[in-house]
Amino acid sequence: MTAVQGTVYLVHLDRPFGHARHYTGFALNLTRRLAQHRRGKGAHLLALAQAAGITWQLARTWEGTRADERRLKQMGGASRRCPMCGITPRVRRVCELPRNTDGSLSRARTTDAEKAAAGVMTAAQLAEHTALRYGAISGRPQRPADRGPLPTAADPWLLPAGTLAGAR
Ligand SMILES: [Zn+2]
Repeated sequence: MTAVQGTVYLVHLDRPFGHARHYTGFALNLTRRLAQHRRGKGAHLLALAQAAGITWQLARTWEGTRADERRLKQMGGASRRCPMCGITPRVRRVCELPRNTDGSLSRARTTDAEKAAAGVMTAAQLAEHTALRYGAISGRPQRPADRGPLPTAADPWLLPAGTLAGAR
């Protein structure tokens, strides 16, 4: 195989997908390749992450060959090469996260990133979930008091007094 020069690139997922946080790839035309990925093509991991609502971005590129790409993939530890990971504190692994006595994840003692990694709703997701449960987003009135005034005499379903008696 000839060593065709192209671009080796590192994609950083904004949230981890399972254990994956990065995708390493090789392209001759990086712009076209990334556009393909945005359409869910060419990289299974990125397609799955995208379907799960995880956004991602190009973190870094190198001039190189497919062999370089393979070598980087085999080395693992992509976060050590990733400028977007360089300044974030180490995320505790799910097994290290604080737990309540019943074994559930402690919401108070974990960050949103850790909650997401553990498959637990983040604060924002929980707030949305709660709002949905109470009908704030569905448009359903929350309480009888919110349903507006009672029908008045102008209500078209109300017949004028005496109408029924006169028809009899
Ligand atoms: Zn990264």
